[in-house]
Amino acid sequence: KLHNTIQELKGNIRVFCRVRPPLESEKLRDGNLAQIQYYGEDGEKLELTETLSSTLGKKTIKSHPFSFDKVFAPETTQEECFEEISQLVQSALDGYNVCIFAYGQTGSGKTYTMQGPSGPVLSSSMGMIPRAVQQIYDVTQKLNERGWKYTMEGQFLEIYNETLHDLLGDTSNYGKIKHDIRHEKHGKTIVTDMTTVILDSPAKVNMMLRKASHNRATGATNLNERSSRSHSVFMLRLTGINPTTKEHSSGVLNLIDLAGSERLALSGSTGDRLRETQAINKSLSCLGDVIHALANNKDGTGHVPFRNSKLTYLLQNSLGGNSKTLMFVNISPLSEHFNETICSLRFATKVN
Ligand code: ADP
Ligand code: MG
Repeated sequence: KLHNTIQELKGNIRVFCRVRPPLESEKLRDGNLAQIQYYGEDGEKLELTETLSSTLGKKTIKSHPFSFDKVFAPETTQEECFEEISQLVQSALDGYNVCIFAYGQTGSGKTYTMQGPSGPVLSSSMGMIPRAVQQIYDVTQKLNERGWKYTMEGQFLEIYNETLHDLLGDTSNYGKIKHDIRHEKHGKTIVTDMTTVILDSPAKVNMMLRKASHNRATGATNLNERSSRSHSVFMLRLTGINPTTKEHSSGVLNLIDLAGSERLALSGSTGDRLRETQAINKSLSCLGDVIHALANNKDGTGHVPFRNSKLTYLLQNSLGGNSKTLMFVNISPLSEHFNETICSLRFATKVN
């Protein structure tokens, strides 16, 4: 009950923290892992502990406590994670616009959370995108049997250097077409010349994810670097009509794998690299500003700076108003990433 009250006060923005497990290769060294404790009734708090040594050799312990709507410890499975978001996926079917973000430094588990591991994927390790498509497919099959006509249309795009790219188009066109964002009346957002895939079977989502990574690999000299410096946005538009009752429903589910949040130093970079770095810093801080403004602007009268970045402008109709937002803040368990982890947790606390 109390939990519900807090949720209501907080409005439609939730933040979940997910700590990835150490990889086999990272388990070897002693002191490799950061000290993280998990506590709270639902495991909704975590505390990082840091040991500081003074110049006199005296050691002091410093604790950094954080609380979130949920905290997923390293052993949490993809299935358990999805259970916590399936309600939100259902909301998109009920006609809400929903955004689910993965925020964190490169290597913290964003893509694993959203898509799954790279390479062949066991069904147990599938990420949130294929699970969401499967759930929507199952529910719409049932609704269609009851006389509804539901369609599920997917687009997958990348925002790199404040420019939009179609991840599902012809590989030969990748990066060559200029895409514009248009907000139409009635709150529909259109991106010009984007490929739309009708997801009439769950298997299509895997084809789509493969196509997207193929396109990305084509456009990049270094794939990891490219994906860590761009945002990828999977947009699922769900439209249902009931010809008998004339009821209709239209919702959008956006699943966003954000660019790596590691603080990028501007010093030393020049030219393209400098512009790229500025674009990432700007769009992530702009996203934080927008979510922060929305959380503090429940009556809808204040200014929300959507136009300050392509990402927030694209998602304008899916953030704020009647829409629902969830952010995964993904963190690494390694002590060498301690400072970046603290930065990610602080960012997430700010939007919380
Ligand atoms: P990011 O997209 O944030 O750069 P990745 O999703 O690529 O990070 O994750 C980095 C590595 O950690 C990958 O090898 C990935 O398979 C692995 N990994 C991430 N999260 C988990 C997890 N929850 N369980 C198992 N392996 C994970
Ligand atoms: Mg990634």
